Amino acid sequence: MTSTHKTNKFNPETFPGVKIKTSAWGTLINRGWYNHLNKTIYLPEHAGLSYAQHEYGHHLQKSELPTFQYWKIAASSLLNATFQFLPWVVRHKYHWAEKDANRRAAAFFGPQAPIANQHIWPV
Ligand SMILES: [Zn+2]
Repeated sequence: MTSTHKTNKFNPETFPGVKIKTSAWGTLINRGWYNHLNKTIYLPEHAGLSYAQHEYGHHLQKSELPTFQYWKIAASSLLNATFQFLPWVVRHKYHWAEKDANRRAAAFFGPQAPIANQHIWPV
């Protein structure tokens, strides 16, 4: 079966160490996710630069943290994304693991980067 993923509008030179693939049919949790096994960021086709930068923040978590801490983040983040529909579960973008990814991405891409906009990407 051929993959429906294709390479995209994001400049690969600005995302060292990862591949970025976009897909028209959406992704696992219908926003974006990072697969550390093949170092690939998956995004819906409409996703803007800040989404790619946020997912790169997860790549930075993987490369900057010891393995067990990364797993704590990845598992916690996935659980939260899955159960955020429950009223007592914090919305995904405010989850601590997500804010950590935003912080790392903003530090990497710089204060002018779209990911550094804390109104949209809380830290
Ligand atoms: Zn995330």
